Amino acid sequence: MAKLSDPITILKGIGPTKAKQFEHLNIFTLRDLICHFPRGYEDRTRLVTIDQLEADRPACFKAVVMSTPRTAHIRKGLDMTKVQLADHTARLSVTFFNNRYVTDQLRYGEEYIFYGAINGDFSGFNMTNPVFESLNSPPVTTRRVLPIYPLTAGLSNTSVLKAVQQALAICDVPEEIIPEAVRRRYGILPAERAYYAIHEPASMEEAELAKRRLVFEEFFVFSAGLSLLRASRAGKSAQPYENTNLQPFFAALPFRLTGAQMRAIEEIAADVRSGAPMNRLVQGDVGSGKTMVAAAAAYLAANNHRQAALMAPTEILAEQHYNSLSRLFAPLGLRVALLTGSMKEKEKRTVREAIAAGEVDLVVGTHALLSGTTVFHQLGMVIADEQHRFGVAQRSRLAAKGSDPHVLVMSATPIPRTLALIMYGDLEVSILDELPPGRQSVDTFLVNESYRARINAFLRKQVAEGHQCFVVCPAVEENEELGIKSAEVWAETLQKTVFPDLRVLLLHGQMKGAEKEQIMAAFAAGEGDILVATTVIEVGVDVPNATLMVIEDADRFGLSQLHQLRGRVGRGSAKSFCILTSHNRNPETLQRLKALCKTTDGFKIAEEDLKLRGPGDFFGARQSGLPAFRVGDLSYDLQTLKDAQAASAQWIEEFGTAPTPEAVALRERIGELFRRAEGTMN
Ligand code: ADP
Ligand code: MG
Repeated sequence: MAKLSDPITILKGIGPTKAKQFEHLNIFTLRDLICHFPRGYEDRTRLVTIDQLEADRPACFKAVVMSTPRTAHIRKGLDMTKVQLADHTARLSVTFFNNRYVTDQLRYGEEYIFYGAINGDFSGFNMTNPVFESLNSPPVTTRRVLPIYPLTAGLSNTSVLKAVQQALAICDVPEEIIPEAVRRRYGILPAERAYYAIHEPASMEEAELAKRRLVFEEFFVFSAGLSLLRASRAGKSAQPYENTNLQPFFAALPFRLTGAQMRAIEEIAADVRSGAPMNRLVQGDVGSGKTMVAAAAAYLAANNHRQAALMAPTEILAEQHYNSLSRLFAPLGLRVALLTGSMKEKEKRTVREAIAAGEVDLVVGTHALLSGTTVFHQLGMVIADEQHRFGVAQRSRLAAKGSDPHVLVMSATPIPRTLALIMYGDLEVSILDELPPGRQSVDTFLVNESYRARINAFLRKQVAEGHQCFVVCPAVEENEELGIKSAEVWAETLQKTVFPDLRVLLLHGQMKGAEKEQIMAAFAAGEGDILVATTVIEVGVDVPNATLMVIEDADRFGLSQLHQLRGRVGRGSAKSFCILTSHNRNPETLQRLKALCKTTDGFKIAEEDLKLRGPGDFFGARQSGLPAFRVGDLSYDLQTLKDAQAASAQWIEEFGTAPTPEAVALRERIGELFRRAEGTMN
């Protein structure tokens, strides 16, 4: 028997080359492989006769080969193999393209199982490229529910499937962590059955049950983890802040705060007076003014002789915060310092010394703040901007630098309340549901390819007026198969053929951190007219001079994500626009995108997104910093989420410390999950 922690190279057929390919899927061990869940299934269980085959509805059928397969070379790169099949009901002629193996594999007079659909034209019984297997070979691609795995270059579905099957045959699946009482109550499959059934379901129904169990499991672990965190914090205390007079701070602001900002600040003030460490999430749409809420929190700390730290996900954001906050705080006598990874060692040392000596009231920085060499002086307030990049683990790591400091996290991803409760179950939530007055909404349009010339003319017009533009593409590299625009190719096309006289910059997630920052900084400084980018620009950088965003193949993004992206424009005084392009003709898809043209309310959009796409999007791998929910890509319902949360809360309350096998295994899994979350930090 093998162990779950064994490397996948112990499997037959997986040498160093294959192992490398699996690594691209983050699969190193048998456990990773067994936890590499299908993203969908094809029901190939239906067995019909040839005369029962329907156009465009694939099915399995048994047929005898009536002719020796013949290959004809049509032109360069195109070979065509024809073969005649029949069963007792009808004949069928089958064509394979570029599949030379067929001639060796299909033998005249022998019977095979095929899987395919007849063509939906008038040419009678024709079929192209069916899948087939010999009758006496075990069912791999026919006569079963076929799991469809997330893949990577060089790995076929069949090779992943075979590896998974081998792994399941030689080692035990992960231990049960959900007690029987809970399973019975919520109709949840036992672990043992679910892990087999997710990969080898006997029916689509069983696949569904397995999926539900694994989704339940993930949320159970996550919620239980949050419950434990909350429980461990419950006993802690913080010395109450005595001076919570914010009048001088308000007086120093160049504007009146919105009602929502005031509410959030009052909630924070109440937290710091309470005698327990604050754990609060401030959620507000892009531009709702979260920075001022953070500033108020820092001000409260400073006025009570505590240091505050504000952590941003990128250097450029950290610099932006540093600039605006030092300007704001200088007249109030607060000392602000910047600490980022790219600063010179000597500079960093100087800043660190000042921090340690208590000569700084507010430190603004990136995760360099987390490094062991930063020692704070009475750290009392930890603020994390753009929460979704910081997982529970980072939050607690920064918090550990003080003695139970107050923690404030800010997120621009509007998350429906139901989900927020689950994701941030260990936090109190303040919501900024109001934009500062005078903010112009971004006019949004949905167009198809026939508008290309007009889009280009509009880009040129914005630049001619002295503004800058974003062009967002869904992919980094070209992918012919999907027919979607890639940032690399599109940037080149725009620069070379459309706007040779303009400065087109390119930014994408596969670039190195420093390179990304440098390009973003250059664009922010006005050193480019058009920035072609992937979604890396999503996180909070302020380029007030940008007035137009074109989002290519907008149907490839989630609504909330589009809304986030759109928030990059409309930050200055000039009228701003967002153009969504799509070739998609699906009425539902277009409907979804039109919703975005009609409203700018992030929470409404998030609710809509949740209804349309399920919570998967909110937990997708993209949201690094959150635990990577492995089943998150599958569609599941919110009810499972809520059930899992209720179940874990109740279970922790009743049996949390009981040394049952499930409880022990659960605690291990929680630790793993949070460690994994930390690993995804960028
Ligand atoms: P967020 O971080 O929520 O996206 P910011 O804090 O960056 O938003 O604020 C966006 C812009 O709005 C900033 O230029 C900020 O100075 C300004 N701002 C914030 N609050 C107000 C307010 N109450 N009235 C007017 N402008 C405000
Ligand atoms: Mg912000």
